[in-house]
Amino acid sequence: MKQPEKIKIMDEQLIVPDNPIIPYIAGDGIGPEIWQAAQRVFDRAVCKVYGDYRKVHWKQLFAGETAYQNSGNWLPDETLKAFREYFVAIKGPLTTPIGEGHRSINVTLRQELDLFACVRPVQYYIGTPSPVKHPENVDITVFRENTEDIYAGIDFESGSTEAEELLNLLKKNQQSNKVRFPETSSFAIKPVSSEGSKRIVRAALDYAIAHKKSSVTLVHKGNIMKKTEGSFKKWGYEVAATEFKNQVFTNLEYTQIKQQQGQSAAVQAQLQAKKDGKVIVNDIIADNFFQQSLLHPENFDVVVTLNLNGDYISDALAAQVGGIGIAPGANINYQTKRAIFEATHGTAPQFAGQNKLNPTSLILSGVMLFEYIGWGKVALEIKTAIATAIEKQHVTIDFAAELSNAVELSTSDFADYLIELI
Ligand code: NAD
Repeated sequence: MKQPEKIKIMDEQLIVPDNPIIPYIAGDGIGPEIWQAAQRVFDRAVCKVYGDYRKVHWKQLFAGETAYQNSGNWLPDETLKAFREYFVAIKGPLTTPIGEGHRSINVTLRQELDLFACVRPVQYYIGTPSPVKHPENVDITVFRENTEDIYAGIDFESGSTEAEELLNLLKKNQQSNKVRFPETSSFAIKPVSSEGSKRIVRAALDYAIAHKKSSVTLVHKGNIMKKTEGSFKKWGYEVAATEFKNQVFTNLEYTQIKQQQGQSAAVQAQLQAKKDGKVIVNDIIADNFFQQSLLHPENFDVVVTLNLNGDYISDALAAQVGGIGIAPGANINYQTKRAIFEATHGTAPQFAGQNKLNPTSLILSGVMLFEYIGWGKVALEIKTAIATAIEKQHVTIDFAAELSNAVELSTSDFADYLIELI
């Protein structure tokens, strides 16, 4: 058996040894039980595909409640250091500490490691209970900007010195009359930069090209927040037009052709671009996106958006295909290659220790991890087993409660069933 080794970076590429050490945080609440289920499934799939040749060495890290109880620290420095050192990791959900001065551990991790892309593929598995008529039309990957926007955490409470100083600044700039109740307002700052916007749009375009997706849609609220979300749209189109010139056809090109040569020439040019395998880049205002993605989800492939929009959008889309119990996620920096894969739901504390809830979100996050490190066959084995289990209606309580003839399995029994299928 080969010695466990760290994943490394060479020439901006991940170098993955046959026996990589991959850190994990089991998490709080239902975290430990879904992690145990997931790890057994991962190990089985790796063993099936590679036998003794390859094996993941899972290295436990601590954050959240366990870390707090042991060290008084919600996110110990050694955990952060390990995330930096090992490049690729996976985590279960963590409790957000309550109280003044505490930030969400997830948000802190994303910002400390500059994991700027939150990637959430939303896909339907046949047999999953859904509230919509055609959930099978949903196959959308969300790229949510992860480090900016209102999540920067610059919040000034009404009545505080900071709020007063900000108001003075607004007065100096003749803007205070835009604040309806200046003396009792709280404020938050929404930073959106060209670097931040361009790198997330670049990541979405790279992904669309690599995965042969037909469109990338910029989702924004630029009609109202012109300088932030409007600029996001502008910078997004700029990246597409300059860095991906020969691989995309943008809505701006369409509009220009329409103005110069008429609508049918524009339609023709877009059709030709599609035939040539180019990615169509367009944009949509966020509220309209919520409507359209419910009515015509088939019109969207990859959507790229700012932090807060992305938060809402990924949960709303997940609801169409079975909810957060089955929605995976990844936080990635495509430059440093650091990535943390994670279940998108929270700790569901009221179910902790009951061995009841769905481990699929975490398992599918592992599928994303295996794809990321180039072990695609392992990812496919796991995905196929999940698809079969759901199609045969061997599912956990969240799905079983919505189905008439399902076999309801506990968290660990569901993992055993997947292991049998693999
Ligand atoms: P939650 O996601 O933990 O639970 C909401 C509901 O979703 C649960 O009551 C349950 O019905 C359902 N649910 C969650 N996970 C499920 C699963 N695996 N299978 C089936 N159903 C599932 O949200 P919450 O109750 O608002 O948050 C609880 C804690 O989790 C809070 O401290 C919150 O800050 C934290 N949180 C952490 C993360 C994260 O670590 N990524 C994400 C969201 C919330």
